[in-house]
Amino acid sequence: MSDLKSLGEFGLIDRIAAHGLARENGVIKGIGDDCAVLELDSDSVLLVTTDTLVEDIHFWFDRSAPEGLGYKILAVSLSDVAAMGGTPRDSVLSVSAPATCDSGYLERVFEGIFACGRRYGVNIVGGDTTRTNGPLVFSLTLMGRMPADHVLYRSGARPGDRIFVSGTLGDAGAGLHLAGNDDRLAEKKREYLLRRLHRPLPRVELGRRLAESGLATAMIDLSDGLASDLGHLARASSVDMTVDLEKIPISPSLKEFCRLSRLSAQQLAVSAGEDYELALTGEPELCHKLQLNNELTCIGEVVEGCGIVRDLKSGEVLDVRGFDHFTEECST
Ligand code: ADP
Ligand code: MG
Repeated sequence: MSDLKSLGEFGLIDRIAAHGLARENGVIKGIGDDCAVLELDSDSVLLVTTDTLVEDIHFWFDRSAPEGLGYKILAVSLSDVAAMGGTPRDSVLSVSAPATCDSGYLERVFEGIFACGRRYGVNIVGGDTTRTNGPLVFSLTLMGRMPADHVLYRSGARPGDRIFVSGTLGDAGAGLHLAGNDDRLAEKKREYLLRRLHRPLPRVELGRRLAESGLATAMIDLSDGLASDLGHLARASSVDMTVDLEKIPISPSLKEFCRLSRLSAQQLAVSAGEDYELALTGEPELCHKLQLNNELTCIGEVVEGCGIVRDLKSGEVLDVRGFDHFTEECST
């Protein structure tokens, strides 16, 4: 008998996927992308994604600011809708709480969710509430929509495309290292890195613009880490990817943090998760044509292959093993 430690998170998802669909009609994309893509009418599709936060795995009652927790549970789903190029619309929220749970704490979590909802125009239109004898659990399902012919799947990358990322990478990973106090780093830089971890800014507008442009070929959001998430893109598209590590955009705050703590900024940017930036592929002139030189950085190229991500200079395979809930300790 094998347990989940050996099967792993993705092994378990594969087992579920292996059961197939009971009805194919209306399902454009099921398991395997950032959102499920379902037919709405002849022109538009419904996007669906869900995320769960569990007490003592993703958050701690006495350590996590409840408003930030609420904000983040919606923000991470928004990032998945952004990764398809869609417009987020409505969501349902399920809360499983022990009877002893402090209702004031829950109210503050809701404030965080609704603050994020107001910012991105997302409603809570339903959900479910249950009692649990275990930890507090929040689960949010977000729906979005978009024109059917604009959807950016993980599977669209083609040899000759360039690889682009938005923003700067590795900041949230540094924020995680900073969870303890490190007063060597200037207050502003410290705050920046912690904010990048606790208040990610899902790239909804950028995702939509890229999808509308028709110049991008594939897209994913960076939740598990660059190497791992590019691995998902590469395998879904049946191509290899070469990344010039020196081109990966790194913030001044991350550089300073890594100098003080003797960590490699490049390593954090490649392997740490939770930046919720976008990684995409597209034609070489994409940045220039869309005037996105300030928003996007070209970090590599798509080549013929079967799903491997390599460092351009050394040719070494970058670690494509993603964060796995059953084999590692959770980060947030
Ligand atoms: P993301 O990081 O973009 O949220 P995940 O790595 O969580 O994506 O999930 C990968 C794919 O597997 C997604 O398409 C997701 O919908 C699907 N998936 C994850 N867990 C389950 C499950 N328990 N049942 C069905 N599909 C799942
Ligand atoms: Mg995702």
